[in-house]
Amino acid sequence: MAHQTTASTCCYCGVGCGVLIEHDGEQITGVAGDPAHPANHGRLCSKGSTLHLTGDLAARALHPELRSGKALPRDRTDWDNALDHAAAVFAETIREHGPDSVAFYISGQLLTEDYYAFNKLARALVGTNNIDSNSRLCMSSAVVGYKRSLGADAPPCAYEDVEQSHCLLIAGSNMAYAHPVLFRRLEAAKARRPEMKIIVVDPRRTDTCELADLHLAILPGTDVALFHGILHILLWEGWIDRAWIEAHTEGFDELKKLVRDYSPAAVADICGISVGSLQTCAELIGKAPSFLSLWCMGLNQSTSGSAKNSALINLHLATGQIGKPGAGPFSLTGQPNAMGGRETGSLANLLPGHREAGNAGHRAEVADYWRIDALPESTGLTAIELFEAVRIGRIKALWIACTNPAQSLPDQQKIHEALAACPFVVVQEAYATTETCRYADLLLPAAGWGEKEGMVTNSERRLSHVRRAVPAPGEARADWAIVCDFARRLEKHLRPGRPSLFEFADPAALFDEYKQLTAGRDLDLSGLSHALIDELGPQQWPFPTGASRGTPRLYADGVFPTASGRAHLHADPYRAPQERREARYPLILNTGRLRDQWHGMSRTGTVARLFGHVEEAVLGLHPDELRRRRLAGGDLARLRSRRGSLILPVQADESIRPGQAFLPMHWGDRFLKGLGTNVLTLPACDPLSKQPELKHAGVEVEKVELP
Ligand code: SF4
Repeated sequence: MAHQTTASTCCYCGVGCGVLIEHDGEQITGVAGDPAHPANHGRLCSKGSTLHLTGDLAARALHPELRSGKALPRDRTDWDNALDHAAAVFAETIREHGPDSVAFYISGQLLTEDYYAFNKLARALVGTNNIDSNSRLCMSSAVVGYKRSLGADAPPCAYEDVEQSHCLLIAGSNMAYAHPVLFRRLEAAKARRPEMKIIVVDPRRTDTCELADLHLAILPGTDVALFHGILHILLWEGWIDRAWIEAHTEGFDELKKLVRDYSPAAVADICGISVGSLQTCAELIGKAPSFLSLWCMGLNQSTSGSAKNSALINLHLATGQIGKPGAGPFSLTGQPNAMGGRETGSLANLLPGHREAGNAGHRAEVADYWRIDALPESTGLTAIELFEAVRIGRIKALWIACTNPAQSLPDQQKIHEALAACPFVVVQEAYATTETCRYADLLLPAAGWGEKEGMVTNSERRLSHVRRAVPAPGEARADWAIVCDFARRLEKHLRPGRPSLFEFADPAALFDEYKQLTAGRDLDLSGLSHALIDELGPQQWPFPTGASRGTPRLYADGVFPTASGRAHLHADPYRAPQERREARYPLILNTGRLRDQWHGMSRTGTVARLFGHVEEAVLGLHPDELRRRRLAGGDLARLRSRRGSLILPVQADESIRPGQAFLPMHWGDRFLKGLGTNVLTLPACDPLSKQPELKHAGVEVEKVELP
C-alpha cells in the first residue's frame, strides 16, 4: 500500500505533542513531530520519537483468553463467549452481593470516549461509584487543590505562559525527564530571555536544575513549610498585592495569622535549606512582573498533597499573579489524558462535567440526561480503598483497563494478594506482559496507540485528536467498543427489554453525547466535536457552543467559580510525612521517572534503544551513605522498608543528599529480583485527595554478601 501520513497525538505524557504517523495502511513505519501542533511545534522527545518501534507483537494481547479455574491457564476464546461470560458473572455478582460488590479500575491512558463509556457503565448501568482511575496516583491532589482554592479543577494557564513568565517556580517536577518537550520550550525561552528567573524546588539535583538560577534542595515532604515561609517574607517585605487580595480572595486574615509562625529561621530548619536561599526565592517571586509555578508528583504524591497544592496557589493569590500572561499556578499532568478522566468524571468522587458524585443535584442532572431513575448515592472507593476491598473480599468482580496496578500501586505485595484472591478479574489490555495480566481470569485484547480514535486533553486544557492509522493486531478492539459491547450484554441481565444506553456508532458519537454534559459548566466544551477539532486543530476549553476558538487563559477578570466569586486562601499547617527517618529505616526513599521510560514499561520496555540511557534498575545513594555501609558502586544491596525488600545494585549519586535514596518507579518484577519498586512504598494517603505517598518511604540498605 502507498505511504501515508496520519496526524495524531503522543500517548505518553501530559504535554500532548502532535505526532505524524507514517504508515502503509497496515504497519506504522515511522513518526515525526507535527509542526502544526501548538503543544510541540514539531518537536518530539526520546519516547515520542520511538513510538513506531513499539509494535512488538510478542508483547501484545491478540485474542480474548478465559480460564475456568484460578489454577488453570487461560485458553483462547472468541469475543462473544468472552463478553457473554463476563456479563453473566457481573450480573450474578450484582444480583447476589449488590452493585458495590463490583468495581472498575481504569487509566489516564484511555481516551475521553473510553472514559465516558466506562463511567456510564459503572454509574448508570451497574449502579456503583466504584470506578477509579490510576490518575488517583497522579493528579488527584491537584484536582483538590484547584477546586478548594480556585473553585474548579481547571489549570488556568497555557504553554505560552511558560515562555512568557519572568519568574518560574518548578516544584516537585523533573520536567526535563517527565515533560521533555515543554522543558525544551522553556530552555529556548530562557536562552532568548536570560532575565527570566527559574527556581527549582526538589530534594534531588535533577537535570531540570541545570536550568535553574536557584535550586532549593528541601528535605523531602517539607513543601508546605517552604511555601508558607515564602509567603511570610512576601508579607514582611510588602511584596503582596493587597488591593487584589481584597477584591478577589477570602481567607487572607487566617492565612496571615498562620504564616506568622513560619519565620525564615524556622522554615530553613524544617526544610534543611539556608535562610539566605529562602530570602532569595521570595525576592525573585515578590519582585517579578509575572510569576508562574509548575508542579507535578513531588507535590501531588503525598499525605499533604492537597495542602501543598493550596499553599503554592496561595502564593499566586497573595501576589495577584494569576489570569495574566506569564502568571498562574500550572500543574503538569503526568498522563496523556488524565485531564480527560477528570473532565468525564472518571474518579470515584466525580461525575461527568466536573460534577460531584456526592452532590444530589449533580446526580439528578446526570441521571436526567442519561434517562435513568437515579445515580448511586454510596461513596465510591478510591484506588487504595478499592484494592483493599478486593483483598478482604468485599469486591468480588474487578475490571481493570489499560493500567498495571500490580506494579504501580504502593505496598505491592498486598495488591498481588488482592488480585489473587478476587473471584473474577477482567483485564482489558494492549500488552499481555504486564504483572496484572497474570491475574486475569479474562484477558481482553485492546487496540493500542495508532490503532484507535478519540480525544485527549493535555496539561493546558487542549483537546487533541488521537487518530487510527493502522488496524489493531489479532482480534484487539478499541477500548470504547469493548466497553459498549460488554454493557449491551450486561443490559440484557440488568435492564431487559429497555432501550440500550450504549448504542454508539463510533467515538465521535460518544463525544457528542458526553460534551452536552459539560454545557454551562466551567469546562464547557459543548461547542467542540471531532469534526470541528479536525477543522480548527487542537483547542483549549472552555469552548462553549458558538465559540470560534478555545480559551488560553482563565480568570483574567479575577472572578472565580466559587459561591462568592472569590478565590480561597487556605491556611493548612505543615504536617510531616507519614514515615520519618529512624534507627531501623534511616533513609528516605524517593521514587521518580527515568528520561526514556514510561510508567511500568509495558510499551517503552519493548524498545531496545530506550535502555541506552539507563540499562537496569539501580539504587542511587549519596557517596557518604555508600561508604557508611561499606558499599561501592555496582555492589548488590538489599533495600528494605516496613513492607518488603528488593535486591539490586547501588550507585554513588551526588545529586541525592545524604539520608535519602532514589529508585526509578518503572521497574517491575520483570526487571528486579522480587517484586517492583512499589513493594517498598506505603499506601498512606492524603485525607482529601486519597492520593498515596509514593515518594516518601523509610528504608534501609544493607550489603548483600555473595557466597
Ligand atoms: Fe510524547 Fe510527552 Fe515526549 Fe511530547 S514530551 S513526545 S507528549 S512523551
